[in-house]
Amino acid sequence: MAGGPRGGVEGNRNSARILVLGGGISGLLAAWHLRRRGCEVEVWEASHAAGGWAQTLPWPGPAGEPGFLERGPQGLLVGRDGALDRLLHDLDLELRPPQPKGPRWLGRGGRREPSPATLTGLLRAPGLGPGGKLRMLAEPFIPAGTATDESLHAFFARRLGEGFARELLPALVAGVLAAPPERIGLEALPRLQRLEARGGLLLGGLRAGPERTRLPVGGTGALARDLTERLGCVHTHRPAQALEPLTQGRWRVHGAGLSCEAEAVVLALPAQAASSLLAPVASAASRILADVPQLELRVWHSRHAMVPGWERGLGLLIHPPEGRGLLGAVSLAADDPRGVPGLLQLRTYLGGAYPVAPALHTWAGVFAELRHWLPELPEAVQVREEVCPGAFPLLEPGHGTQVARVLAGLPQGLVWLGAARFGPGIPDLAEGIAAWAESASGALPAVTRA
Ligand SMILES: Cc1cc2nc3c(=O)[nH]c(=O)nc-3n(C[C@H](O)[C@H](O)[C@H](O)COP(=O)(O)OP(=O)(O)OC[C@H]3O[C@@H](n4cnc5c(N)ncnc54)[C@H](O)[C@@H]3O)c2cc1C
Repeated sequence: MAGGPRGGVEGNRNSARILVLGGGISGLLAAWHLRRRGCEVEVWEASHAAGGWAQTLPWPGPAGEPGFLERGPQGLLVGRDGALDRLLHDLDLELRPPQPKGPRWLGRGGRREPSPATLTGLLRAPGLGPGGKLRMLAEPFIPAGTATDESLHAFFARRLGEGFARELLPALVAGVLAAPPERIGLEALPRLQRLEARGGLLLGGLRAGPERTRLPVGGTGALARDLTERLGCVHTHRPAQALEPLTQGRWRVHGAGLSCEAEAVVLALPAQAASSLLAPVASAASRILADVPQLELRVWHSRHAMVPGWERGLGLLIHPPEGRGLLGAVSLAADDPRGVPGLLQLRTYLGGAYPVAPALHTWAGVFAELRHWLPELPEAVQVREEVCPGAFPLLEPGHGTQVARVLAGLPQGLVWLGAARFGPGIPDLAEGIAAWAESASGALPAVTRA
């Protein structure tokens, strides 16, 4: 959508009280909260569509039937009373009723086993002896940690035992964040810290209530589409190219032959894009953001004849590096409106921080590897590769200190939000941006300091 500029256009100039740069989920959520607090807001999105990674794209079936694929999340993980739950409620977005899930597996030791994310899976967990399983039961008695630079590996080893962290965690984490748990800081999954503060993974989880994957009718991208329509101030084809400081903390943003003055500018951008804009005006913050590694994911979408027993969808995570770069695969349920009737729609992830074997650079190689774990899988009737450069920022242990340095290095009137600040998961982005907006309370000087 490309709405007309608001707030008084003069030639190619206009002004907005707050200008949000980036029309991904972070920028749309920031604009949504600011608007609800009575701020006049405008969003600039560089590409032809808002939503960033969270977009549902058309992918017609083999005979031209309507069909879709997700660029990013296939569903939204929603916890009770969380920011995403409140947002979905406020937007009244139409959601599919929760459905039972099909099989979930862990590929390990050359075989597939039930996923350790379920109770049966945990009890049958491969590579974990009775001592390791008993150790996990001690989790509620483990005190909260105090280290500020803890890795996901160290966190899980402390809470659930070294056996869990070594044998099961790598596949669980690679399937979500595409990197080894030793290389990821706790900041990448802030809800773990929240659970620990509420008594641990088990007790905190029980207190917080179950998390459920919710599927908006119309795909995950419906969230961005709905926010864009309601905001009515999202301008596409508007790449921000330069920030110019004015007096009293005001800024002028230049891009696409336009300039816009604002009392505050929100950079809801991937770390590298934020770094480029900040280089001339906040060099220390820019250098920190430039150093945040970005992971590239390779994603293959494929359609196959339906396999009996997989009608409710399947999930497969592979213990790295056994999959030679293949991290996992997940399918839609047979009655999912994004798919094509009668076909199994699968999405296979490769890469991230893991090297991909040369043989897996083509679909033939990926399919051969998939067949090792899923021998029932028939030949594909349709495939499509989507490479996702910069899919996730890699938030390394100690990232929280870097975030604090970036925030301290921002001049008055500039705000930085996004996956490199709050973690790449959409529930965490929703939580972080809601808390930021809450602390800002609509007062502009506070908006920029928060
Ligand atoms: C394959 C894949 C699977 C994923 N699966 C999940 C999942 O299951 N669950 C989950 O919670 N998350 C998942 N994610 C992560 C999640 O989708 C992202 O972390 C989230 O969408 C990031 O949103 P964002 O707005 O911060 O950034 P982005 O989506 O990157 O949006 C940034 C926007 O800024 C725009 N932009 C860039 N430069 C400029 C500029 N100079 N001026 C103006 N605009 C600019 C870009 O065009 C883009 O639209 C997945 C991501 C990928 C790629």
